[in-house]
Amino acid sequence: MCAVGRGPHDIADRVRIPTTTPTETLAAVQDYFAAREVAAVGIATFGPVETRTSHAGFGRITSTPKPGWEGADLLGALQAVVDVPIAVDTDVNGAALAESRWGAGVGCSTVLYVTVGTGLGGGAVVGGRTLGGLVHPEMGHVRVERLAGDRFEGVCPFHGDCLEGMASGSALAVRWGRPAARLGADTAAAVEIEAHYLAAGFHQFVYTLAPEVIVMGGGVSHLPGLHPETNRKLVESMAGYAVQPEHRSGFVVAPGLGDDSGIAGAIALAQMAV
Ligand code: ZN
Repeated sequence: MCAVGRGPHDIADRVRIPTTTPTETLAAVQDYFAAREVAAVGIATFGPVETRTSHAGFGRITSTPKPGWEGADLLGALQAVVDVPIAVDTDVNGAALAESRWGAGVGCSTVLYVTVGTGLGGGAVVGGRTLGGLVHPEMGHVRVERLAGDRFEGVCPFHGDCLEGMASGSALAVRWGRPAARLGADTAAAVEIEAHYLAAGFHQFVYTLAPEVIVMGGGVSHLPGLHPETNRKLVESMAGYAVQPEHRSGFVVAPGLGDDSGIAGAIALAQMAV
C-alpha cells in the first residue's frame, strides 16, 4: 500500500500494489513515489527487516519464507527515487505508533499493537518510540500454553505451535477448513479457541512490557466478541497477580484507526524521520 498524507484523516491518495516478486513490486512502488512530492518516507513493512540504522543491511528484509524476498532492499529502492529522510520499521511497530498518536492508545506511553491476519505479529511503542534492538519484536512467535485437549499441531514453519502457529488466520483456516469470514455456526467455538491462545500470548506481553493498552487489529480480529473474550481470558490467566482495574475491561481493544493503522503508521514513521 502506497499513500501520501499528513495523518490518518489527511491521506491524499493511496494505491494498493500486489506483493509479487521484489523486482516487480518495488518497481511499482518506485513509480508511485517518483511521480510525487514528499518531505519524508516511512516504510512500514512485513518482517523480518533490519531496522538498525548503523547496520550495513539497514532497510533490507532478512530471513523470510516469502519466496524471493530474502535480502530485498526496500530502503535502496526508495533512495533511488527520492532524496528525503526515510524511516524503516515493521508494519506492526508503525501501527503501534499510529495508534499511540491518533488512535486507541492516545494518552498512553506504552502501547502494544497486535495484528491477527494471515500471520500474527506485534509491535510496541514505549515513551513515544517504537521498540527494537537486535531484531525487532516478533511477538507472534512466543510459545503459548496449549488449550487442554487441543491436538492441532500448528502451522508455523519454524516453531509449529507458537502463537502465530496456533492463532493466526492461516492456523484458523487449516483448523476449520475455511477462513474466519466463512465460519458460520462455528464462529463462537472458534472465538473461544482464538481467545485462549491470544490471552496466553498477551499474558507474556503484559508481564514483560507493561502495556497500558493492547490494540488488536487484522482480519481475524473482526470475529464478533473476540476482543472482550480475549480480555476476559487474559485477566483470568493473570489469576489476580498485579491485575489493575484498567486490565479488567477495555484493555484489549480494536484499533481506533480501523484498518488504517498500518498506512497511518508509515506516515507517523515518516514524520519521525523529519
Ligand atoms: Zn513461530
